[in-house]
Amino acid sequence: MKLLEGKVAIITGASRGIGKGIAEAFVAQGATVAFSYVSSDEKAKALEQELSKGSGVAKGFKSDAADFDQAQALVDAVVEEFGRVDILVNNAGITRDNLLMRMTEEAWDDVIRINLKSVFNLTKAVMRTMLKQRSGSIINMSSVVGVGGNAGQSNYAASKAGILGFTKSVAQELGSRSIRCNAIAPGFIETEMTDALDEATVQGWRDSIPLKRGGTTEDVANLTLFLASDMSAYITGQVINVDGGMLM
Ligand code: NAP
Repeated sequence: MKLLEGKVAIITGASRGIGKGIAEAFVAQGATVAFSYVSSDEKAKALEQELSKGSGVAKGFKSDAADFDQAQALVDAVVEEFGRVDILVNNAGITRDNLLMRMTEEAWDDVIRINLKSVFNLTKAVMRTMLKQRSGSIINMSSVVGVGGNAGQSNYAASKAGILGFTKSVAQELGSRSIRCNAIAPGFIETEMTDALDEATVQGWRDSIPLKRGGTTEDVANLTLFLASDMSAYITGQVINVDGGMLM
């Protein structure tokens, strides 16, 4: 039997990068996948088609995770179409890096809204359904930067650290109903988000990692799959790094 057979998952921000890798892993393990995106219409359509081949069931929704009403509408549409929500992966995220001295209010607000408020929005929206089901697994994509900080990323680090406090509080509030909430802290994962960096910087990072490579989207998807499945039934309120040993 596949790990996610019969389960319905919502993944935010899955038109590319880590979210896409998670969507692929979930469908391969039998989940019905609803994923969101904001601007990549063609990539989302292509992914929906790729995931729907054979026995796969997947649907893309254009929905801004940072918007409270759109988050609720997304969950309502998923419940209407698929009947339940077993797994929520809060993956959508952006960077607007700059030293604090040069950081604009807009760069601060955008990152907090899209990375942190989105997690509140979607968790609130799925709560009622999961409470009724008396089960659920919520997985929040933080970052090693949320654990250790990083010069030039004070907005991003604050958003990712905020996710950790939120995760632990939700785990405490909802544990009695068998709803689990965990966070993943990826290190340096090579995606479009990191393609924007120059090659010398990237090689420097690879060299400084104990496992001597950047992570792949599969590395993060494998942990997400474990936390989404019943294999992790007694794990909640945790932050797990996927970082090749970057932070110890
Ligand atoms: P990415 O390649 O830039 O992809 C980001 C995804 O989020 C895209 O699908 C994008 O949709 C979507 N998105 C952006 N804003 C959204 C919004 N308001 N509502 C819904 N979807 C939205 O990023 P990634 O590298 O895969 O990162 C995914 C997550 O992992 C992020 O939370 C990031 O902070 C975290 N992370 C990444 C790394 C890394 O090294 N890559 C390390 C640690 C943590 P569109 O395509 O439509 O714009």
